[in-house]
Amino acid sequence: MKLQGILPFARTLLQEVIQAGDTVIDATAGNGHDTLYLATLVGETGMVISCDIQADAVQATAERLDQANVADRVELHQMGHEQLCHLSTFKSAAIKAAVFNLGYLPKGDKRITTTGDTTIEAIKQIYCQLTNEGRIILVIYHGHPEGKVEKDAVLDYTRSLPQEEAHVAMYQFINQRNNPPFVVVIEKRK
Ligand code: SAM
Repeated sequence: MKLQGILPFARTLLQEVIQAGDTVIDATAGNGHDTLYLATLVGETGMVISCDIQADAVQATAERLDQANVADRVELHQMGHEQLCHLSTFKSAAIKAAVFNLGYLPKGDKRITTTGDTTIEAIKQIYCQLTNEGRIILVIYHGHPEGKVEKDAVLDYTRSLPQEEAHVAMYQFINQRNNPPFVVVIEKRK
C-alpha cells in the first residue's frame, strides 16, 4: 500500500507544523510513543506537555523518555487532559500542536478509556492556546462501546467549529472491516 496508514498520517500532520523550540501536547501519553516522537520534533529547546490518567502509562512513558535521553524537554503529568488549564506552563504557552490517541491503553485495562465529555473539554482548552496554523490531531478508535459514543460526540463538536476559524478534515479508510480508527485534524486559521 502506498497510501499512508492512520498512525503514520497522524505523524505527518504533526511533523509538517512542529519546529524546534515549539510547545506541543500529548493529551494521551499511553506507552509514550507519541510523547517521544513529539520530544524529537521539538528538540532541546522545545517542550512537550504530556498527560495520562493511569500511573502505569505515566511510568511507561517516563521510562521511554529516559531511555531516549529526552526527559528534560517533557513535562509529564498523571492527570486528565481536561485539567490542562490548571497547569501554569499550559496557561502561558502558545501551543503549536496536540495529539490525542483516543481509546484504551494497549494491553491495559480496557474499561479505562477516554470519554467524549473530557476529550471535548480538553480540545476546547487547547484550541484557545493554539497558534495560528497550529493543529490538533485526533486518532479516533471506535470499536469499543464508549468509543462509539465518544466518536459521535467528538465529530458533532468538531463539525460545529466555524469554518472562518478553523479547517477541520478527516482521513479514513472507508472499505475496511471492524471499525478501523480514523484521523480528524483541526487546523486553526490565520
Ligand atoms: N498515544 C499512546 C501511545 O503512544 O502509546 C496511546 C494512548 S491510549 C490509546 C489512550 C490513553 O488515554 C490511555 O493510556 C488512557 O489511560 C488515557 N486516558 C483516558 N482518559 C484520559 C484523560 N481524561 N486524560 C488523559 N489521558 C486519558
